[in-house]
Amino acid sequence: MMAMSLSAIFSQDNFAHFHTPGYRDCPIATAKTLEYNRTMSDPPLELRSPIQFLKGVGPKRAEILNRIGIRKASDLLFHFPRDYQDMTEQREFGQLEESNKLQTIVGSISEWNRKSTRRGEMLSLYVNCDNKGYLKAIWFNAFFAIKDFAKDRKVMLTGKPKFDHPHWTMMYPQITYLSDDEDEQAVEPFLPIYPLTEGLKQFHLRQIMRNMLPIFTPLLEEVFPDDYLEAHKLLRIDEAVRAIHFPKDQTEKIWALRRFVYQELFVLQLGLAMRRLQHQTSLKASPLKLTDSINSQIRQRFPFTLTKAQERVIAEIVQDMSQPIPMNRLLQGDVGSGKTIVAVYAMLLAAANGYQSVFMAPTEVLARQHLRTLTRMLENDSFNIAPVFGGQKTAERARVLRDIATGSAQIIVGTQALIHGEIPFNKLGLVIIDEQHKFGVMQRAALKLAATPNAADSRVAANTSFDPHYLVMTATPIPRSVTMTMFGDLDVSIMNEMPPGRQPVKTYIADPEHQPAWWDFVARKVAEEHWQGYVVVPLVEESAVPKGQGLDAQSLIEVYERLSTGPLKGFRLGMIHGRMSTEEKERIMFEFRTGEIQILVATTVIEVGVDVPNANLLTIENAERFGLSQLHQLRGRIGRGKNPGYCTVFYNPSAENAQKRLKAFEKLSDGFRLAEKDFEIRGSGDLFGTQQHGMPPFRVADLVRDKEILYEARGDAMCLVQGDPGLARPEHAKLRKQMLSRYGTVLNLGDVG
Ligand code: ADP
Ligand code: MG
Repeated sequence: MMAMSLSAIFSQDNFAHFHTPGYRDCPIATAKTLEYNRTMSDPPLELRSPIQFLKGVGPKRAEILNRIGIRKASDLLFHFPRDYQDMTEQREFGQLEESNKLQTIVGSISEWNRKSTRRGEMLSLYVNCDNKGYLKAIWFNAFFAIKDFAKDRKVMLTGKPKFDHPHWTMMYPQITYLSDDEDEQAVEPFLPIYPLTEGLKQFHLRQIMRNMLPIFTPLLEEVFPDDYLEAHKLLRIDEAVRAIHFPKDQTEKIWALRRFVYQELFVLQLGLAMRRLQHQTSLKASPLKLTDSINSQIRQRFPFTLTKAQERVIAEIVQDMSQPIPMNRLLQGDVGSGKTIVAVYAMLLAAANGYQSVFMAPTEVLARQHLRTLTRMLENDSFNIAPVFGGQKTAERARVLRDIATGSAQIIVGTQALIHGEIPFNKLGLVIIDEQHKFGVMQRAALKLAATPNAADSRVAANTSFDPHYLVMTATPIPRSVTMTMFGDLDVSIMNEMPPGRQPVKTYIADPEHQPAWWDFVARKVAEEHWQGYVVVPLVEESAVPKGQGLDAQSLIEVYERLSTGPLKGFRLGMIHGRMSTEEKERIMFEFRTGEIQILVATTVIEVGVDVPNANLLTIENAERFGLSQLHQLRGRIGRGKNPGYCTVFYNPSAENAQKRLKAFEKLSDGFRLAEKDFEIRGSGDLFGTQQHGMPPFRVADLVRDKEILYEARGDAMCLVQGDPGLARPEHAKLRKQMLSRYGTVLNLGDVG
C-alpha cells in the first residue's frame, strides 16, 4: 500500500492497446519528431508497457530507472519534476552578470572543438550573441551535443555565466535549439528538473519524456467526469500530465499541480465522506437520554462549576448520544482545558441509561489516573469501575472480565489491552478514547471491531445490531488541515477555554551556562515552598523508535544520578519510565502525588494527561528531540495548581531547527498556534505522519502548502457523496474505484466495494 505508485493514484492503468508503427531504441534522442522502427510483431505500447521499450530508454537505462521504482510507462509519466529551470530569464549579452541566477541567452553557433583533458573530453562551443560578443559553453564528455551542432544554428543557452577572460563562459548550460523562424522565446520556458538516481541525466530523462508524452498521455483515463473538470477548474489528466512536465508558462505549471493535489485530497475526502455516510445510515446505536434528574445527579458529583466551553461540548455530546445512530465525535481541547470531566459526564449518562462505557488511555499511568479520578468522584455510590491493563494478574483479570460480562461493571477503564483482549462486554453503550493522537485510525477501527462481538447476545435477542457511541479526545492541538484528513470522518468539538484560576507558565530556553542558576532556583523553591517538579529526559521508549535510534540520548539514570549527587543533592528524587512494572509505576506516581517524591525524573510517560497540581517546575533535557506540540503537552503538566509554573528547556543548539522551534515554544502558549507553527517548520511528515495513522502518505499534496485546495476538495467531496451516496452513478464509477483501491482498507470501506 505504501509503495503505491503515482500512476496508480491518478490514473487507472488502462489496457487499451495503442498501436504505433515502429520503434527504435535510440540512446540519444534529440529530435522532437517521433521515430518508430517497430516491427508488427512487437507488442503494442500501453501504459503498462515496460519502459525498456520506450524510445530513448533501452535495457541499461531501464535498469537504472527500475532502481527508483519506475517500471512501466505509466510510472514514468507520473515521475513528476521536483522543480523547474526557468528559461524565461532571458538576457542581452550586455546584461549578463556573475550571479547565482540562471540566465538565458540566444545566439548562433560559431564554432566548437573537442580536447582531451584529465576530466575527460572537453567540448567547447562558441556562440555569437548578436555580434555583441561570444559566449563560450563548456561540457565534459558530452558526445550527445555534437551531432546537433551546425554552424549558424540558432541556440538558446541557459546557465550561470562567469566572466573568464576573455569570454563569458557557462559550464554545462542547458542548450535548446531554435529554428530560424522560431520566436526567440523559449520553446520550453520551464525545463523540468527530475528526481534522479546515479547514472541518469536530466537531459536524458527530459528527452525520454518529450518522446513519450504525446504517445502515452492520450492513453490516460480520466477519472473525473468532463463537466466536473470544468466546474472545478481542473485540467484534464492528459493535459495536466503534459503540463506538469513541460508547462507553457507559470500559470500552467500551477494549474497542472493543482489538478494532482486536488485529486489526491479529493479522493481521500471522498473516502472519509463515504465512511461518514455509511456510519450514519448503516449503524444503529441505542439512544441514551438525558433527563433533568440524571443531569442533576451527575453534576452533584462534580467538585467544580463547568466552564462555558465544557458546557457547550457536553450539550453537543448529549445531543449526539440521544440519537439512534452512534455519536462519532472528536473533542479537541488544549492541555488542561478539562476534557476528563466531559468524558465522565458522558459515561455517567450512559450508566444512568443502563449502558457500559469504556474509557481508554494510551499509557497506563494516565489510565490509572483516570481510574483514580473516577473512583474518587464516584465513591459513596455503588459504582463498579473495572480496570483492564496489560500486566494484570490472572485472577484479577478473571474477576474483572466476570464483572464486565455480568454487567455489574458500568465503567471500564484501561489501556490498549482493551483492544487486544477479548472483552466480553455486556451492554456497551459508549467508547471514549483519550489522547487519540497516540492511537490512530487503525486502532480506532480495531476497537470498533473488538467492540462488535461483545453486544452480540443482546443484539441477537433484539435482532438488530447496535454500535456504541464514540468519543475521541485529544489534547494535541491539531491544525485544521490535519483534522480534516486524519479525522475527517468525525464531528469535531473544540474546547478553547481554560478552567478559572489557571496559573501562567513561564518558559525559558537555557544555555548550558545558565543551568546552575536554574537548579539553584529549583532547589530553593522545593526546599522553601515545597514545590515539586518534573525533569523530562527524551529516553525514547524502545517500542516507539526503530532500533538504534535514541541511544545517544542522555539516559534517565545518568540524569538521575547527576542531579541527586549534584545540584539536587539531599532532595527526594524519583524516577519513572515506560518499561517499569505496573506496580513500580503505580508506587512512584503515588509517592509523587503525595509529595514523598519531590522531583520526578521521567521519560515521556508523563507526557499526556498526568495531573499533579502541586508540581509546577518542569525541566526538559535535550528539548530539541521533542516536537513543539509534544513540548506543549509536557508543559501542560505544570501550572495546574495555585502557583505559577516554571518551565526551562535545555537543548543542543546544533540540532536542526532547534533554535527556531524552541523560540516559538517560548513565545507561544496557545497550543493551536504552536501546532500550526510546528507544522510549518517541520512539515507534515514528522508529527502527524500519515503513516503513523495507518494512512498511505500523500504523494503530491502538502497539507501546509495546499490548505486551500484541501478545504475546497473536502467541501466538494461531501457535496458529491451527498448527491450520490455510495457513488453509484456510472460517471462516478472511476472515482469510486480509485478511492476504494487507495482507502478502502484503511477506512474500512470494504463492504462498499
Ligand atoms: P485535560 O483537558 O488536559 O485532560 P483535565 O481533564 O486533566 O485536562 O483537567 C485539568 C485540571 O483542571 C484537573 O485538575 C481538573 O480537575 C481541573 N478542572 C477541569 N475542569 C475544571 C473546571 N471547570 N473548574 C476548575 N477546575 C477544573
Ligand atoms: Mg486529559
